[in-house]
Amino acid sequence: MSDERTQDRQAGQKAREERPLARCFRCEVSEEYAVLIPCRSKGEDLWVCTHCLPQLIHQ
Ligand SMILES: [Zn+2]
Repeated sequence: MSDERTQDRQAGQKAREERPLARCFRCEVSEEYAVLIPCRSKGEDLWVCTHCLPQLIHQ
């Protein structure tokens, strides 16, 4: 009778799929070690970390 609840929980775990880690396009630090902010340049979707962002602003 309570089988439906168990199935719902399993579906929830499956939804959390693995995805590639985002990396800063300048220093290549991954989102595990730094906060990354989405940005765009020359038609590309990129990520930049908070360390590299000030350097971009002052370019
Ligand atoms: Zn960076």
